[in-house]
Amino acid sequence: MSNIDLNEDELAVVADAKEFAAGYVARHCRQWEMDREMPREVFQAAADAGLCGLLVRTDRGGRGIGTCALLKVLEELTYVDMSVAFALVVHNNHARFIDNAGTPDMIEGYLPKMIAGEMIGAFLLTEPQGGSDAAAIAMRAEGDKGSYVLNGEKAWISNAPHADLLNVFAQTDPAAGARGIASFQVPVDTPGVTRLPAYEMLGCHAIGAGGFRFENVQVGPGQQLVPAGQGFKAAMAGIDLARACVAAMCVAMLRAGLDTAMPHILQRHAFGRPLAEQQGLQWQLADVATDMRASDLLAYDAARLIDQGGASAEAAAHAKKFATRAAFNGLNACMQAMGADGLKQDYPLARHLAAAKVAQYVDGTTEIQNVVISRALQKAYQTDE
Ligand SMILES: Cc1cc2nc3c(=O)[nH]c(=O)nc-3n(C[C@H](O)[C@H](O)[C@H](O)COP(=O)(O)OP(=O)(O)OC[C@H]3O[C@@H](n4cnc5c(N)ncnc54)[C@H](O)[C@@H]3O)c2cc1C
Repeated sequence: MSNIDLNEDELAVVADAKEFAAGYVARHCRQWEMDREMPREVFQAAADAGLCGLLVRTDRGGRGIGTCALLKVLEELTYVDMSVAFALVVHNNHARFIDNAGTPDMIEGYLPKMIAGEMIGAFLLTEPQGGSDAAAIAMRAEGDKGSYVLNGEKAWISNAPHADLLNVFAQTDPAAGARGIASFQVPVDTPGVTRLPAYEMLGCHAIGAGGFRFENVQVGPGQQLVPAGQGFKAAMAGIDLARACVAAMCVAMLRAGLDTAMPHILQRHAFGRPLAEQQGLQWQLADVATDMRASDLLAYDAARLIDQGGASAEAAAHAKKFATRAAFNGLNACMQAMGADGLKQDYPLARHLAAAKVAQYVDGTTEIQNVVISRALQKAYQTDE
């Protein structure tokens, strides 16, 4: 849809993603969902396809693609399965964090293994008592001179079953609020870290959402990625990118919905003619097509702003809010148009519908997008009086 200028290298990455998704992922994703887990070797297979260092610069072994190209890659993956795409983008984002802000030891010690799919990353911000108010995290990092002891619990962490390296956000000074938050790189086998069982959810089990408990976990000065004062900003720095990514994923699910429902209603008959000749159904799916197009434009509008280094918070919030709603409603419409057949696991619609619901929570709920948009509106209309 959106006409995006990608360079030759980026086009090659998108082609790799398409091949990986249409082959390996398509063969297994239904089974992973039935098993309620995705095996670890998927990361290895993704790395073999060149999809584990997407955002790492090329001279460090990554593929160094821009935001628009990342969205295209995620569309290819999500067309087949959103949860696999999400697991991979979380891992890739962690590698990007280290590439951008890591110490030389982190860059040397972790990045090659992450790009090779041997070390899996996870982003630990949300806690059991709440995720929307991220600045209010309660996990404590007590200490000084760069050495800290971590205590607390994290919840709803993607890649929890397989993560080897944890990007942990913790509060060094509760009185300082958001300014007290720092981030640490913690290998999962550090004494005091307990991996909790992944949740059973509506769907999307390949994401492997689960929790971690930290009891007197010692971290040294070399493990701090972002110091207090910058931790919250760092956690939020990638959020616009993440929101644009989720919007693009929704575009792909809508495309999959139409690609499934349209051939069905063209060939199936009711009341002596093809279902596709019923105006009610035509209009229902025409609305899906419109929403898909609008979601696409919003997603790439945000992506372009991110690539240009412009202010992107409002654009990303609009894109995520609109596209996640469109995907949930649009997939519901596609399923309805297919009658009972739409419920069958032979088709991807039920899996995508569950993923569209998940998309309404990850990287900030729909309501939090409205908080961002309302703030921008008020700023735009505020007078000095
Ligand atoms: C599959 C999955 C994977 C995830 N992966 C990760 C991960 O890798 N790392 C990570 O840190 N987190 C992750 N999350 C957590 C996700 O970011 C949170 O679920 C999200 O931020 C919402 O937090 P919450 O679920 O605690 O809802 P709450 O914060 O408890 O909110 C509950 C409801 O209140 C609404 N609400 C809250 N504040 C306001 C307000 N000011 N105005 C209006 N309404 C409001 C919310 O929109 C929501 O509807 C994941 C979640 C899911 C479902």
